[in-house]
Amino acid sequence: MGKIISVCIPKGGVGKTTTAVNLSASLAVAEKKTLLIDADPFGASAIALGFTTNKIKAGISDVFNHTKSIHYAIHNTDLKYLNFIPANINSIKLDEKFAKSSENRLILRNSLKIIRNHYDYIIIDCPPVLSGITNNALNTSDSILVPVKCGHLSLEAVDKLFNYVNWIRDTSNPKISIEGIVFTMYEKNSKVTEISEKELKLKYKQYMLNSVIPSSSLLNEATFYGKPLCLYKIDSIGALAYLDLAYEIISKNEKIN
Ligand code: ATP
Ligand code: MG
Repeated sequence: MGKIISVCIPKGGVGKTTTAVNLSASLAVAEKKTLLIDADPFGASAIALGFTTNKIKAGISDVFNHTKSIHYAIHNTDLKYLNFIPANINSIKLDEKFAKSSENRLILRNSLKIIRNHYDYIIIDCPPVLSGITNNALNTSDSILVPVKCGHLSLEAVDKLFNYVNWIRDTSNPKISIEGIVFTMYEKNSKVTEISEKELKLKYKQYMLNSVIPSSSLLNEATFYGKPLCLYKIDSIGALAYLDLAYEIISKNEKIN
């Protein structure tokens, strides 16, 4: 049964979408059957994968409004092992309707029941808030992956997230665990990096993953071409870092030596 991992932290612009998209693509490169779900109404994952509105036949808003079954919302991508469910919430009216329906925190969990057997990993890209769709995502997840932007450390956001996860665990999803914390936009040998690392390790050392994602403008550039970095420049440091992260997660979950 597929492991469901939400990429989540209540802070904007820290690399959640970049991590969700590039980790999913890297898992697919490793021939793991992967489904990426865009749970952010902003729809940035679709842009990063080259899905323009005309290519989207159904999405997460249809699932939440019960207008189409989840099977219709699954799209193929350029990678054989990667499927994608876009957010398709592209009007204020839909956004309001979506916000209302996502108050039922079990919609996503119930919808995924019928498809999770088809996948090794299901990755959910969350918005930077801890309510509505994020509540849905965490109620269906086995674990969360926490991207922390190097140099803009917000211990407060990490604390808030961990408290929220504890509350979800106590009230509705006892199995949820922390997959790990990963540094994004990492700049070696800089003072802010040193300070950020020190502060984070003081409190959360046991959750820190070995893989770190370096700062690389190619990660941004690739989204303009609608491609994950491994399909744009596979030998770049950013692409290799996400392959490393995928390998670390696979090793952790599948006990590879
Ligand atoms: P939001 O909360 O708005 O959804 P987010 O946490 O999903 O934001 P991203 O959209 O992934 O963040 O990244 C924010 C910006 O930083 C984007 O322009 C992205 O291309 C860039 N970025 C992400 N990771 C890196 C990196 N490792 N190096 C350089 N730029 C990066
Ligand atoms: Mg995002």
